[in-house]
Amino acid sequence: MSTGLVDSSPRDIGESFSVGPLAFGCWRFTDTSVPAATGLIETALDLGMNLIDTADIYGCDWGGLGFGACEELLGKVLAAKPALRHRMVLATKGGIRPGVPYDSSGGYIRSACEASLRRLRCDVIDLYQIHRPDHFTHPGELGETLAALVDEGKVREIGVSNYSPAQVMALQAHLPVELASVQPEFSAARLDPLRDGTIDQCAELGLTLLAWSPLAGGRLLTGEGVRPELTTALDEIAEREQVDRSAVALAFILAVPSRPVAIVGSQQPVRLQAAAKAPSVRLDRGDIYRIVQASDGVALP
Ligand code: NAP
Repeated sequence: MSTGLVDSSPRDIGESFSVGPLAFGCWRFTDTSVPAATGLIETALDLGMNLIDTADIYGCDWGGLGFGACEELLGKVLAAKPALRHRMVLATKGGIRPGVPYDSSGGYIRSACEASLRRLRCDVIDLYQIHRPDHFTHPGELGETLAALVDEGKVREIGVSNYSPAQVMALQAHLPVELASVQPEFSAARLDPLRDGTIDQCAELGLTLLAWSPLAGGRLLTGEGVRPELTTALDEIAEREQVDRSAVALAFILAVPSRPVAIVGSQQPVRLQAAAKAPSVRLDRGDIYRIVQASDGVALP
């Protein structure tokens, strides 16, 4: 008998927050019009995407105004409509320095976090994430800094991004609070977290996985660099489920039993609405393994 595997229930961010299975990502949040940006955030929140994920580095790509620009824009949105702050779980990241490129030293992370707070015009960051591992900072130094930021009330929960499971364990060993989340790239076109121990570690430690580029940055829609059998599989399931391809691709992520969150990156309200149908898509094991095999391009043994 086949059972629906997609889990639409809320996810925990540590012990502090509950969020929807879809989040809104601000990497491409580079439209500088505050009214348009406010409308987009409101649409995302109305659709249940209450984790808003940004980073200090966002603004350096996609025609943005540079380092800090996406946080600044979100800060302006929150200044224009302060009530929105209470509807969202605000996540940001630090640790990438243009030209370096990675710095998780205690002094730098403290200054980066405090600068993010100023740009976001907030008293506290709900989830502060280290954006990429810095191999040249001892996890003890980073752990001490992150714990101090929590103690001082500047940060509520701590997460990491693009960390290997071993790097997660090394940081956790030096962190007196429990890590809340990891953020790897994960999509139907990028299955690494299923196989590199990331998802198993989430199940083991109770970490919430936040999947970045869950539509492979749009390539699952355009088909660029994606196996045709994968887009065909997604389309056939989409037709059966009466949704679009994006909803099926996102539902694939939501079917993982450690209950990830997919960070949707579209900046178009109509596409956010299509994505929001993902939690109601019904996928069984046959669907899931069809997607996996189409993504791999070879049959599983
Ligand atoms: P995504 O949802 O995989 O891709 C979004 C892109 O796909 C947008 O450019 C969007 O264009 C396009 N798209 C969506 N539907 C489409 C369609 N039907 N046809 C053609 N294009 C379509 O996510 P992402 O933006 O790459 O990443 C999501 C979030 O993950 C980011 O905002 C950020 O928060 C996080 N992230 C984190 C890291 C990290 O290192 N931690 C790295 C990358 C991203 P439109 O806007 O025009 O719809």
